[in-house]
Amino acid sequence: MNKGILVTGAAGFIGSHLCESLLTQGHQVSGIDNFDPFYDRSIKETNLAGFIGHPSFDFIEGDAGDRNVLEKMERKPSVVIHLAAKAGVQPSLKDPSAYIRSNILMTNTVLEWMREQGIRKLLFASSSSVYGNMEEMPFREDQLVDFPVSPYAFTKRSCELMNYTYHQLYKLDVVNLRFFTVYGERQRPDLAIHKFVDKILREQAIQLYGNGDTSRDYTYWKDTVGGIEGALKYITGRENVFESINLGNNSPVKLIELVREIASLLKVEPEIVYEDKKQGDVDITYADIGKAQRLLGYRPATGLAEGLQNFITWFRAKT
Ligand code: NAD
Repeated sequence: MNKGILVTGAAGFIGSHLCESLLTQGHQVSGIDNFDPFYDRSIKETNLAGFIGHPSFDFIEGDAGDRNVLEKMERKPSVVIHLAAKAGVQPSLKDPSAYIRSNILMTNTVLEWMREQGIRKLLFASSSSVYGNMEEMPFREDQLVDFPVSPYAFTKRSCELMNYTYHQLYKLDVVNLRFFTVYGERQRPDLAIHKFVDKILREQAIQLYGNGDTSRDYTYWKDTVGGIEGALKYITGRENVFESINLGNNSPVKLIELVREIASLLKVEPEIVYEDKKQGDVDITYADIGKAQRLLGYRPATGLAEGLQNFITWFRAKT
C-alpha cells in the first residue's frame, strides 16, 4: 500500500473514476482540480459527489501548475498520478499557447515540486495522439514518435520527454501511460460518443468528419483505470523505472461502425451530415497492448456494445 496518492485532475472523467476505485481498494487519496472551464463545472462536481466526503480522500480546488496550491497538500503522497491537462485535439489548434502553458508548464511545476519534496513515483496521462499518423500498426511503444500532428499531441509528447529528463537527472520513476480514446459513463461532453448519443436522442443530425473511415481504438474507462492501477503496482515495487505503455483496446472501430452500433442500441436511424476531415485529427489509432499485458497484467475486458450500453444508461439517467 502506498503512503498516499495524489491524483491531479481528480474531478474529471478518468480522474473521478480512478479516485473512486483507489478509495475502494483502501488507498489514501488526495485530489487536485481547478475545474477548468473546458466543460461545465457542475459536471465535475457531480463526478466528485460520490466520494468527496470519504474519510480517506482530501480535495484541493486549484491549479496543479501553481506551487502554492501543491504546497497546500497536508499529506505528502508517495505517488503522483498526473491526469490534469487541457484535453482535446481540436481546441488545441485554436489556442496552442494555452495548451503549452497548461500541459507543459504545469507538468514541469509538478515535476519540480516532486523533486523538491522527494516524491519519487509518477504515472503520467499521455495519449495515443503522440503516434501521429503512423503507418505501421498496431502502434508499439518502441516506435519513433516524433511526428505529432496537433498542438495537443506535441504537449503530451513534450511531457513524456520532460519526464525522461527528470528520470535521468533526479531518479524519478516514471510510467507514461498512453490512453486510447477512453469512453463510458462521465465521458467528456466534447468527445464523439457523448456528442452522438446526445444529438441522436434530441433527433438532431450528427456530423461525421471525413467519410466515416477514420478509426479509434475505443477503450472503456474501467479497463483504462485497471491499467493505471496495474502501473501503480508496477512502479511501487521497483526502482529505476522509465516506461511508456499503451493502454488501448487493440481493436480499432471505424467511425461509421461506431455510429451504427450507437444507433442500433438507441433503436434510432440517425441523420448523418458528412463534413471535411479536420486538420489535427489522425486517421486511425490502434494500440499494441503486449507491453501493458506483460508489465502491468493489463487485460481490457469490455466490448464496445457493453461499454456503449453502460454509457447510454448513464446518459439517460442524468438527462
Ligand atoms: P477531463 O477534462 O475530464 O479531466 C481533466 C481534469 O483536469 C478536469 O477535471 C480539469 O478541470 C482538470 N484540470 C485541467 N487543468 C488543470 C490544472 N491546471 N490544475 C488542476 N486541474 C486541472 O479529461 P479526461 O478525459 O478525464 O482526461 C484525463 C487525462 O487523460 C488528460 O491528461 C487527457 O489529456 C488524457 N487523455 C484522455 C483521453 C480520453 O480519451 N479521455 C485519451 C488520451 C489521453
